[in-house]
Amino acid sequence: MNTTETIHKQSSYYIKTHGCQMNEEDSLKMANLLEEKLDMQPTQDVSSADLVVLNTCSIREKAQEKVFSELGRWKKSLGYKSNAVIAVAGCVASQEAEQIFKRAPFVQIVIGPQTIHRLADLYIKCRTTSKRQIDVSFPAIEKFDHLPQNTRSSVSAHLTIMEGCNKFCSYCIVPYTRGEEISRHFSDVINEAKNLVTTGAREIILLGQNVNDYFGRIDDTTEANLALLIEAISQLSGIERIRFTTSHPQAFDETLIEAYDPSQTKLCNHLHLPVQSGSNRILKQMKRDYSVEHYIDIIAQLREKRPNLRVSTDLIVGFPGETEQDFEATMKLVDTIGFDQSFSFIYSARPGTPASELIDEVSLSVKKERLALLQARLKYHANRIADEMVGSTTDVLVEGISKKRRHEISGRTQNNRIVNFPGTQAHVGTIVNVQITEKLENSLRGRIASQSSDPMDVHTSTCTEQKIQHAHA
Ligand code: SF4
Repeated sequence: MNTTETIHKQSSYYIKTHGCQMNEEDSLKMANLLEEKLDMQPTQDVSSADLVVLNTCSIREKAQEKVFSELGRWKKSLGYKSNAVIAVAGCVASQEAEQIFKRAPFVQIVIGPQTIHRLADLYIKCRTTSKRQIDVSFPAIEKFDHLPQNTRSSVSAHLTIMEGCNKFCSYCIVPYTRGEEISRHFSDVINEAKNLVTTGAREIILLGQNVNDYFGRIDDTTEANLALLIEAISQLSGIERIRFTTSHPQAFDETLIEAYDPSQTKLCNHLHLPVQSGSNRILKQMKRDYSVEHYIDIIAQLREKRPNLRVSTDLIVGFPGETEQDFEATMKLVDTIGFDQSFSFIYSARPGTPASELIDEVSLSVKKERLALLQARLKYHANRIADEMVGSTTDVLVEGISKKRRHEISGRTQNNRIVNFPGTQAHVGTIVNVQITEKLENSLRGRIASQSSDPMDVHTSTCTEQKIQHAHA
């Protein structure tokens, strides 16, 4: 029996995740790593875990404070196992680094988002040397090469294709915490997609901080962009749907617009494209590098290909210097696009970002007022779209048995709406044509109209291989 087995036999881990889908995905990867490399078991009870990991997000307001108070609260109310190792991962770890040990001396591991593949090694070192471990570097070798394959079954599976961001929007901390953009090799992504299909995935959600900046190597001389990757994944047997998040309007090129041609790919009739503001003046201050007109033009071109395309977005209100006119421009854009379910936030400064240096003269009460108005308008459009869906039939990819009613199944429409309806385990992983009968606050109800395969399936051509060959030429 080796050292690893001696120390870690039957030990358990607990991971709590804050923030975005990228963080959720990183937590899943850390879990796979601990199970595969150290044979550890997950536990839902923080007080019994041998390793406690808090995977943090610095997008949240006062993110650092929340991390320390959460760790302290667990310590006080639940207590940790006497010899538990406490680790802080994610963007706050990257940003605060050694400071975390100073402010929370009971933390023993600090690990950044780009080094999660080293968690098992750091844990062993921590156990064997009783010394604190830190690794918040941005290594040139991709972490993906060192992480085990995902073997968990999920009808809708995330697949990270790139990491980091070179955009440096003035309000955002991500480029400082996740580093420069790195795209995974084309064949690695394809192989992972194939593997996900074997574990039950029918929908792939391609992930990246700036997913449409993907440029993955095919070989020494050829790269694939996101559109080509989507076309290639669309060809894989078993894949019914593809989504991607999060994309940036500035990098939304013609090939990606072309990929929305239903005959080309299995992209859903839904796009999440953050716009942040409807005012060109504010977009400039945010360093977003596109205009409102450009954003509207992208959506118009996409709707030429997919007239029923639903679009959701992210919006920030109360950015420093935002006037009433700027805010009205945002409200106007919401009506122009008719956004489906979207996210909206009040601006708050992130330490270390250029925007945090700007004088923020918009009062909190004004920000709150604007947010309430904006959210009411967004809700109006989301409800309008849901009302239009009631009475129609639509394809639903069934993801599992309903959590509330065991005789019902739950799935998603192309525009990402959750639908619950009577069905059985046999429907899980299939696309079912559902008549929508009722709109609820956060979901829809329906009944099976017929079992169907995705109608886009039959149109998908085999042009991707030709394009790759062409790219080689
Ligand atoms: S594109 Fe802008 S908002 Fe998005 S991660 Fe990069 S810097 Fe942050």
